[in-house]
Amino acid sequence: MIYVKDLYKNFGKTPVLSGINQHFKKGEVTVIIGPSGSGKSTLLRCLNLLEAPTSGSIIFDGQNITDKKADINKIRQRMGMVFQQFNLFPHNNVINNIMLAPVHVKRMPQQDIYKRGLELLSRVGLSSKEKDYPASLSGGQKQRIAIARALAMDPEVMLFDEPTSALDPEMVGEVLDVIKNLIKEGMTMVIVTHEMGFAREVGDRILFMDRGTILEEGTPEEVFSNPKHQRTIEFLSKVL
Ligand code: ADP
Ligand code: MG
Repeated sequence: MIYVKDLYKNFGKTPVLSGINQHFKKGEVTVIIGPSGSGKSTLLRCLNLLEAPTSGSIIFDGQNITDKKADINKIRQRMGMVFQQFNLFPHNNVINNIMLAPVHVKRMPQQDIYKRGLELLSRVGLSSKEKDYPASLSGGQKQRIAIARALAMDPEVMLFDEPTSALDPEMVGEVLDVIKNLIKEGMTMVIVTHEMGFAREVGDRILFMDRGTILEEGTPEEVFSNPKHQRTIEFLSKVL
């Protein structure tokens, strides 16, 4: 579904991604782990062009999206992104947070979008919160709304950037459960997380990033039980 070829990203003169080559397959769950500052977020943001790569290419569903002629907005609509800090619209209630993008973009009657919004709310277990405002929700509820909002555009891929890192521990599980349900339905995902148990459980592939490169990759068994690189071993010894 997504091919990344020789991807480099510099911020000014600082290299942040140094030659990433990856193939994210349809229906596959890829989990990216690695120390803070290793480039995980930047890689995710390059995938949906929130950051412009310095060089290299990204092929999404057969289309070179790093080409100047690519329609960035159209491409972003096909990839849902969920951030650590939720990024809900504070002045919109829950249902409007979910409906905002589809109402602007989808050629569908508002009533159908509303119905779909209610379905998504029920899917993330928050049917009763339709009219509530983000400020009145817990962190876990906010993040579940953010996931529903991303799903409202019917994305083909979901990108999660540390979706539980800003949550109180008791709310981590409810968000991971929503993500696990999506995985059961076959959603293609790239997830950056520090939740190693979750990574091991849901990941088809684990990528370990260090200093702008993917230092090690493999199945959860390979990376967690038999890491090859000293850097991976050190990292895992700190987080497991
Ligand atoms: P991670 O998500 O693995 O913690 P990031 O991708 O956020 O890492 O950041 C990788 C490096 O790039 C860090 O050194 C960070 O300071 C730098 N960086 C990230 N975003 C920017 C930016 N917009 N401008 C300048 N430097 C940035
Ligand atoms: Mg990050």
